[in-house]
Amino acid sequence: MKKLFKCTVCGYVSEGTLEKCPKCGVDASKFEELSSEAAEKIYRSDKSNDIHMEIIALAEKIAFLSQEGIEDNLDPKCLAAFTQAKDEAWTIKQRSKAELAGHMSLGKW
Ligand SMILES: [Zn+2]
Repeated sequence: MKKLFKCTVCGYVSEGTLEKCPKCGVDASKFEELSSEAAEKIYRSDKSNDIHMEIIALAEKIAFLSQEGIEDNLDPKCLAAFTQAKDEAWTIKQRSKAELAGHMSLGKW
């Protein structure tokens, strides 16, 4: 496991040291090394966070397609199916967002 360093100004996390922060531009002196416990949380949750973000993107696509179907409005059954799909996509998206927000607050990012 590589050592992680965190920018104390903006919170950017880097593998290894950097000359300056890619997010806020401060120099290396503003970075502090994370404990192995904190680094473990970040590495351990990295894949899960990626999966949540992919699910959010897919749900967004479902919502977009459902909206097209709603506007096409072929018949009442199609309209009902697209409306339900759009609502379910919202739920899927928000559930993953809530999980990500929970991760952030626990240092799992
Ligand atoms: Zn920074």
